[in-house]
Amino acid sequence: MYNKPDRKAWLKAGTAHCEPPPVAQHPPRRLVLLGAPGVGKGTQAELLCARLGACHLSTGDIFRAAKAMDPAERTPALTAALDYMRRGDLVPDETVLALVAERVGCLRCESGFLLDGFPRTVAQAEALERLLAGEQLRLDAVLSYELPLEKVVARLSGRRTCAQCKAVFHVESRPSRVAGVCDHCGGKLYQREDDRPESIRVRMEAYERSTAPLADFYRRQNLLVSISAEGTPEEICRRSLEALHAAA
Ligand code: AMP
Repeated sequence: MYNKPDRKAWLKAGTAHCEPPPVAQHPPRRLVLLGAPGVGKGTQAELLCARLGACHLSTGDIFRAAKAMDPAERTPALTAALDYMRRGDLVPDETVLALVAERVGCLRCESGFLLDGFPRTVAQAEALERLLAGEQLRLDAVLSYELPLEKVVARLSGRRTCAQCKAVFHVESRPSRVAGVCDHCGGKLYQREDDRPESIRVRMEAYERSTAPLADFYRRQNLLVSISAEGTPEEICRRSLEALHAAA
């Protein structure tokens, strides 16, 4: 059975190690997930990681982990990054790239990785290419999840996250048994600050401006695999695995 590592090396960097250490179950897969906020990349990342034994590397999770830290422990760049995040804006490339470069060991992880939320700009994608080339590694594929805009907005505004175990629910499509309470650990469900309507608009604009051109970048490299993000998470996961298999 897949024993999910705690991803400490990714979330904390420095000398932190993952517990349990990631164990390769298959030839390692090195993948990037693309798609507008709200298409369900995070959920797919979890499902795919469990199936492929790879590590879920989300830059958004690094910022959320930093938010939970004692403010005195945060670097000024991290504190500034959290302000961008709160507004729904993209954090500057320089800050994101410094954080990823500190975690380059996670790209070497022998169980492979699934990058979620990074790269988000062409400059970040070019920097990732350089980091991987420095490790003699390359991406296997870039999965691009596609969903009409009105469905994206509906998914984001109804999303609720557990403050304790980070499980994700949706007020309509995946409600918890008791409103506001996590089914798994009894934690309190909350709406992410950046899932509020005013932040959603900013995030969608940032996506169109900076992230959508990434699809072309990876299409030119023959790495892009487009996947419809309609349906249940399990259906989308099955579709993703079939598409990966076909692209291999
Ligand atoms: P996510 O969980 O991937 O939606 O990320 C949440 C927020 O973190 C985003 O709205 C950005 O403010 C910030 N963020 C995460 N990853 C990146 C990135 N690669 N580049 C810029 N900002 C990012």
